Amino acid sequence: MVDAAAIGDGIFQISVPMTHNPLGSTLVYAMESPGGLILVDAGWDGDEGWEGLTGGLESVGHSISEVEGVVLTHFHPDHTGLCGRVREASGAWIAMHEADHDLFEKMSSGRDAEWMDYQLTNMARAGAAQADLDAFAGAAGGDAPVGPGSAPDRILSDDEVIALTGRGLRVVFTPGHTPGHACFYLEDADVMFTGDHVLQKTTPHVGNFVYPLEERDALAEFLDSLRRVQSMEVTRGLGAHGLPIDDVAGRAGELIDHHEERLTHLLDAFGDDQITVWEVAQRMKWYRPWENFHPMAKGMALSEAAAHLRHLVAREQVGQVPGTEPAVFARR
Ligand SMILES: [Zn+2]
Ligand SMILES: [Zn+2]
Repeated sequence: MVDAAAIGDGIFQISVPMTHNPLGSTLVYAMESPGGLILVDAGWDGDEGWEGLTGGLESVGHSISEVEGVVLTHFHPDHTGLCGRVREASGAWIAMHEADHDLFEKMSSGRDAEWMDYQLTNMARAGAAQADLDAFAGAAGGDAPVGPGSAPDRILSDDEVIALTGRGLRVVFTPGHTPGHACFYLEDADVMFTGDHVLQKTTPHVGNFVYPLEERDALAEFLDSLRRVQSMEVTRGLGAHGLPIDDVAGRAGELIDHHEERLTHLLDAFGDDQITVWEVAQRMKWYRPWENFHPMAKGMALSEAAAHLRHLVAREQVGQVPGTEPAVFARR
């Protein structure tokens, strides 16, 4: 199905479907450039997505062969999957921030026995029980979601301006959702392409993935990046999923409040107990009961819990209890 439209200000919006994912589609944006077209993101790999992207461009009077370059908001496969095919069809360059480049390579290198071993050891360090490890091993694996031929060949730096026809697209580095996430600001139209950093309805996932305690504080990055976008006084946002955002600063503020509430709730949920990262995840507030989570969803929730825990440690409200295996944490 082709779903694309000119949405004003010289911006074309193309919905690239992904049927297996609850988000339903990735919104790709195209704008005219001196060399043809610049795309913001590319969509999930597969024939259905490819038809959505190519057919969408045709329906707005363009062609995939015109694409000069693709700027990627971040490395996730619903954004990068089709890059390789776009490059093959058009010779386009593919660009992303340096901090996501390594992760892209890891993601495209496959999910073999070594990958699984690492995941299970890591989850055991978080305090997962054997039954949960078995469930995860039974549900995860399979092919890498992005082929190795799609690797970006250009690095974007913060504040760099990508040339469009008669105007520019500014790179705004917004780490948090991933270490190298970037938004793109179309200054002359007061529109920001927010990727998965700010979404109209969904709360973007923020995770730490190395247990029990990763050095990187993903939630601190995310909150700082939300404040950055908030201070830019951008009015309209176009995210990669869902409806346009009318008030980017306002929505960024809501997301900050949401995480502050979760941090407060988690701190309360500790009580006087000493608990593992896994137990932190079990005690956090979710939209569904924890027992009903699919094993893969538990993995994602665990990373989100770890990010909130990591941030409470940074704020010195929670500390790791020394000499425990798996590691346990308590209020300070
Ligand atoms: Zn994402
Ligand atoms: Zn996404």
